[in-house]
Amino acid sequence: MPLTDSHGRAIRDLRISITDRCNYRCVYCRTGNEGAQFAELPIADYLRMARVFVSLGITKIRLTGGEPLLRRDIVQLVRELSALRTPNGAAPELAITTNGHLLDEMVEPLKQAGLTRVTVSMDAVDPERFARITRVKGSYPAVLAGLRAARTAGLGPVKVNCVLLRGFNEDQIEAFGRFACEEQVAVRFIEFMPLEEGRVWTPEVVIPLTEILERMARFAPFQEIEHEPSSTSRRYRFNNGGGEFGIIAPVTLPFCGACSRIRLTSDGKIRTCLFSLSEHDLHAAIRSGCPDEELVRIIVYAVAHKEARHHIGEPGFVQPGRTMVHIGG
Ligand code: SAM
Repeated sequence: MPLTDSHGRAIRDLRISITDRCNYRCVYCRTGNEGAQFAELPIADYLRMARVFVSLGITKIRLTGGEPLLRRDIVQLVRELSALRTPNGAAPELAITTNGHLLDEMVEPLKQAGLTRVTVSMDAVDPERFARITRVKGSYPAVLAGLRAARTAGLGPVKVNCVLLRGFNEDQIEAFGRFACEEQVAVRFIEFMPLEEGRVWTPEVVIPLTEILERMARFAPFQEIEHEPSSTSRRYRFNNGGGEFGIIAPVTLPFCGACSRIRLTSDGKIRTCLFSLSEHDLHAAIRSGCPDEELVRIIVYAVAHKEARHHIGEPGFVQPGRTMVHIGG
């Protein structure tokens, strides 16, 4: 019996932030002035919390941050996570979301340690634009090398996540179509959510699904891939048999009713929604020497209190104090 919240949703997907440091300062995510704000825990503590989650039916773990590859001991963590077993005796799926800057040198050890999937974030496919967005010179070739190394290591299909903002990078949509075909990656456009440090979000900056489809049609014809009604993304395959793209639209097509996620922040707090206004301090139980039974109790309680949905764009919406880089995207 998986963890189930009070709205009947099975919770199977755990995202763990292992640092809120990042080597990029993407202009739509960070002001550029703030650094890390929260503690990092010993790897053994993330492992213990993950083990308890997996014993409760979590089947997929995604490591994120900040930038997770900044923690060199991530290889050891992946190795130990891959030895965990769900109540059905299966190994959990182990994925990582990374900006890809350090991926080239780290992907092989991560693969050997048991990593199964890689998602790389890219908000442009033009070297100069990319450097302006990330505020890091030479970032584009580094990320491209990382993405290709992941594909060579057999961690494909590599997913590429692109956050689109009006007046910022929507002119990259067709270029991303070409990139998907040439690099054989699955590009996923993600709507910008009000989770940034600079508080610049307005509904007008979100690029709606229909506009992405119209622009992509100028690059090449494509067809929608059938999806489960509960799926969080719409997927499309180019008719030429090349790459694919998808659209994740948490703002204009929210999928809260199908949400199977729970998050653990770098300092060991459970967040049941990106937009949660309160957290559950799981690591406090470890610090005070509690047995695993107490961790189970905290997790079950948190899941039971998972929010029904987010309220982006509604009157009275309150942006959470933690921004994306400090939650773990
Ligand atoms: N450093 C890693 C990376 O770049 O993938 C992991 C953390 S990063 C915060 C995770 C993802 O969140 C990135 O794809 C980033 O573009 C996305 N992101 C950041 N701010 C966002 C926002 N306000 N709305 C939607 N996605 C956002």
